[in-house]
Amino acid sequence: MNCSNANKSIGCTVKQCAYHCGNENYCTLGKINVGTHEANPTEIKCTDCESFKLASK
Ligand code: SF4
Repeated sequence: MNCSNANKSIGCTVKQCAYHCGNENYCTLGKINVGTHEANPTEIKCTDCESFKLASK
């Protein structure tokens, strides 16, 4: 992934995602959606990046 389009407003360490910047811990999308898989989220782990897409190997 080319880091010239890193979005410095969206830090991310999920390197397995197709939209991750690679060398730098940023997302390359202009906007992401964050959601939850819980009925009543109470912790960080209850939230999900719903824009995640598995990077092709
Ligand atoms: S889409 Fe979500 S998981 Fe993927 S790089 Fe962007 S912030 Fe990270």
